[in-house]
Amino acid sequence: MNKKIAVIRGDGIGPEIMNEAIKVLNKVGELFGHTFSYTDVDMGGCAIDKYGEPLPDGELKKCLESDSVLLGAVGGDKWNNVAGDKRPEKGLLKLRAGMGVYSNNRPAKIWPQLIDASPLKPSIVEKGIDFIIVRELIGGIYFGEHKTEGSTATDIMCYTKDEIERIGRIGFETARKRGKKLCSVEKSNVLDTSRMWKSVMHELSKEYPDVELTDMLVDNCAMQIVKNPAQFDVIVTENMFGDILSDEASMITGSIGMIPSSSLGDSSLGLYEPIHGSAPDIAGKDIANPIGMILSAAMMLKYSFDMNTEADAIEKAVFDVLEDGYRCADIFPQSSTTCKKVGCIKMGQLIAEKLKK
Ligand code: NAD
Repeated sequence: MNKKIAVIRGDGIGPEIMNEAIKVLNKVGELFGHTFSYTDVDMGGCAIDKYGEPLPDGELKKCLESDSVLLGAVGGDKWNNVAGDKRPEKGLLKLRAGMGVYSNNRPAKIWPQLIDASPLKPSIVEKGIDFIIVRELIGGIYFGEHKTEGSTATDIMCYTKDEIERIGRIGFETARKRGKKLCSVEKSNVLDTSRMWKSVMHELSKEYPDVELTDMLVDNCAMQIVKNPAQFDVIVTENMFGDILSDEASMITGSIGMIPSSSLGDSSLGLYEPIHGSAPDIAGKDIANPIGMILSAAMMLKYSFDMNTEADAIEKAVFDVLEDGYRCADIFPQSSTTCKKVGCIKMGQLIAEKLKK
């Protein structure tokens, strides 16, 4: 297959980790007979320096004309005093809106080699943590009316059936490609939006008889994620609940440098990025962990290009490199006498070399 990928290196460690993801993708191309072509897109602080704005229309157009978009990270202290509407993060919001990506998908996965890095007890972690939170991204209370009148503040949470249905479909489709279990999380004992959410999910489930649907109240879910995370395969939830639960879920897996994400809309054009920022404190030192970025590229192969085997091969290569004891600084256990500390470039190279068909 030939695929055109828009590549946004961004700022800070963005360019460093992106180089390693491209190294791994090129190896996948070689092994599996695909051609990936890359179009560089300027976004964030580097675009402000070059064009005076964080995502010029021409750069957005390059993304829309690609098969998928890979993003490193944007932002940094240098642009902190730039006016609000020109800040690097505005580029990200313009990109998401321009691409129409309403579903943010963030996996929570513990690598068996990194069990010690989790704040949970080994007895819980050892049962396995491997689930995805599918979060509605452009609706709900964050996008409702916000107002303060005297001593009263109000935020409106509003969802239409269509908005719920489109995110529900992403949840079911994601579950279908994984363990076929979908947990719909809401607060239907209190909220009307949640009662509508629940009923739309059950209506949709008739179209996905191969996926087992369960319901869970959000407060219970927050508890279950730390009590028994092994029970989850895919969680689908609204914007604010997903925001909170996905941070909780990423924390239980160890380092922020390990976690990828995808944002999807109605088409296969997706936006794939690690969950961390541009980490200016470690930029240019070859110590950033590129694994979150590399796993974002694997998600792109799976969810935008339907290349499941290739995505699995990347995950297996990451597993094998960790198994061999290689660690970047953020996941290096201080007391270890057996692990080997490696930099960003070496980690990317090791993963590319481990890839097998
Ligand atoms: P951050 O995620 O960049 O860094 C937080 C901490 O985690 C830092 O100590 C950093 O060194 C470490 N870290 C992050 N990624 C790492 C990696 N791959 N390997 C090893 N360590 C890693 O968050 P921050 O410091 O709050 O933000 C820095 C900049 O990034 C800000 O300008 C912020 O606005 C921006 N940001 C961008 C995005 C994005 O592009 N999607 C997301 C979050 C923050």
